[in-house]
Amino acid sequence: MSKIYNLKREVEKPPRLTGGHRLCAGCGAGVVVSGVLRALNQEDRAVVVNATSCLEVSTFMYPYTAYMDSFIHSAFENSAATCSGVEAAYNALKRRGIYPHRSSPLIIIVLLGYSYWGRLPCIRAFD
Ligand code: SF4
Repeated sequence: MSKIYNLKREVEKPPRLTGGHRLCAGCGAGVVVSGVLRALNQEDRAVVVNATSCLEVSTFMYPYTAYMDSFIHSAFENSAATCSGVEAAYNALKRRGIYPHRSSPLIIIVLLGYSYWGRLPCIRAFD
């Protein structure tokens, strides 16, 4: 399989940010996040960490979520610490041999406050 990014192939994958969110029609945040999530392999497990922002309140409002992946809301200043906590938990589960998805890596996607802190998600992957 080619490793070259192919937009057509990516958009044919099932969405991981589903319809029904409350982002404005055509909002760039939704397009970017949807594209990033679709770029993952289908067997990948992702944890989305999102600081308070338009994106956060529009895609997640407990108990509803537009994400097919796990989601954590954190305060502006806490995203990196939250991500570290998820990584520590993941590593502890793997050390004890009780991580349920052995064959798939965990990918943590940190979405910063869209309007305040920039527009690029940070992605970390662990295997
Ligand atoms: S960032 Fe918020 S206000 Fe701006 S287009 Fe997106 S959803 Fe609408």
